Amino acid sequence: MIICSGKSVLKGVAIGKIYLYKKQEYVLEKKQIEDTEAEIARFELAKETATQQLDSLYHKALEEAGEEQAMIFDVHKMMLDDGDYLDSIRSMIRDDKVNAEYAVSITGDNFSAAFASMDDEYMKARSIDVLDISKRVVNVLAGIVEGGIASESPVILLADDLSPSETVQLDKSKILAFVTKNGSANSHTAILARSMNIPALVKTDVALLEEYNGVQAVVDGIDGTFIINPDEGMAQKMIRKKMDYEKERTELQKLIGKDNVTTDGRRINVYANIGNTQDVDKVLANDAGGIGLFRSEFIYLGRDDYPTEEEQFEIYKEVLSRMGGKKVIIRTLDIGADKQVDYFELPKEENPAMGYRAIRICLDRVNIFKTQLRAIYRASAFGTAAIMFPMIISVSEIQRIKEIVEEVKTELTHEGISFNQVELGIMVETPAAVMVSEELAKEVEFFSIGTNDLTQYTLAIDRQNQSLDNIYDSHHPAVLRMIQMTIENGHKGGAWVGICGELASDTTLTKTFIDMGIDELSVSPTYVLGLRKAIREI
Ligand code: PEP
Ligand code: MG
Repeated sequence: MIICSGKSVLKGVAIGKIYLYKKQEYVLEKKQIEDTEAEIARFELAKETATQQLDSLYHKALEEAGEEQAMIFDVHKMMLDDGDYLDSIRSMIRDDKVNAEYAVSITGDNFSAAFASMDDEYMKARSIDVLDISKRVVNVLAGIVEGGIASESPVILLADDLSPSETVQLDKSKILAFVTKNGSANSHTAILARSMNIPALVKTDVALLEEYNGVQAVVDGIDGTFIINPDEGMAQKMIRKKMDYEKERTELQKLIGKDNVTTDGRRINVYANIGNTQDVDKVLANDAGGIGLFRSEFIYLGRDDYPTEEEQFEIYKEVLSRMGGKKVIIRTLDIGADKQVDYFELPKEENPAMGYRAIRICLDRVNIFKTQLRAIYRASAFGTAAIMFPMIISVSEIQRIKEIVEEVKTELTHEGISFNQVELGIMVETPAAVMVSEELAKEVEFFSIGTNDLTQYTLAIDRQNQSLDNIYDSHHPAVLRMIQMTIENGHKGGAWVGICGELASDTTLTKTFIDMGIDELSVSPTYVLGLRKAIREI
């Protein structure tokens, strides 16, 4: 039995087998092949596997998202059977004596370029699809497993570290918990673990040994321990601990349908934070009053190209419709820093957290911003949408944003597309925004305090830097005074004020926030009922 300690990012106990996660990167290599017929047979087998994958993706999407979303996998299947595409690959292997990975990749690139140069919009759009199917076949050939987990049953994922884009691509149904050797408790990967509602440890003192693969283990997110190969006594103790925790969670279910109200009658809105459409299930199951932060940038992660207006519209529409009129606050793209997306081709920076990110990118690459705003406004007709803008530092930014919003609304009106009234707000997550919050409040309808970044910028501590985790302190008086000042100034200017950073779920501060006059707290869905309990006991 080996006991390791780590920093817990979500409570709960998970028991299962370890799966050692390796980075899923394939670097294309051109190899000379002697037995070309055997290489063609290897390609045919990979094509067959890719077709089966597309079949099961089609059925999964059909069940979870409906016919329209599932269609794309059918289209991919047809493309993978295209005679010209297949002939090109086979003859490249046969004539040029190259490996299948290389032939598929180059054929994919050539076909993609040909599609992209066509006039027909439908054919143009296929240029991404042909790249997608080629990548799928290459991954099969290279033994890279989609979602990163080659296991039939759910596992405890053990990794060196996980980036947010790797995390969003993992097959969640196959993960019981994750444990990383590195990583910070304040990173977006940790935030994603919370929204997935699985126990997770970061910065764990564990060796990443091949021999741990398949070994029984326990992740104790309550006390921050990772137990490899537990002895009988420990295993029994952990089973009891898991049951006790689950009982506690079941008790909380009794609060479903109850108000978030203190004993002296103060009512607070408790909303939930999400990163994708699947999270809405958890929002509804935990009876949140709305969505206080939809981190829309997760739509942009883990893909090869920008999501189109139509794709985004469908996503926002689904979230808004499923929330049935409850408020959904969509935060516009907050890319940059730890959330890197290759196709944005962001410049390498010395100091990315203080660099070209979030609203700075949107106000610079206005077309990307407008596409997102159009999608949100179109979707607003299906529920109660609000929009908030990240990383604001000045009044002029919000004035420019409002001009762009007006342009978008005018365009939609001219096109005869209807939309609803949408509340506009900003994230207060920079000390600059706090200091000018009185002026900012006159420009918007609400503030949402992002305590994760506000702590980082106030204390000058990089939230990603795991060696500073011990002094990254959101309870620092400077941070708390910033929060107080934001609430007071927000109210003075007529804006309501919420908190959507991780501090909102810290129930040791709930009373403090209520005394400060907070109107809303938005937390990971899994914390909604615990927070309701804390409010009702004040
Ligand atoms: C924050 O900074 O507190 C916040 C909610 O945004 P993110 O964690 O996505 O940066
Ligand atoms: Mg932030």
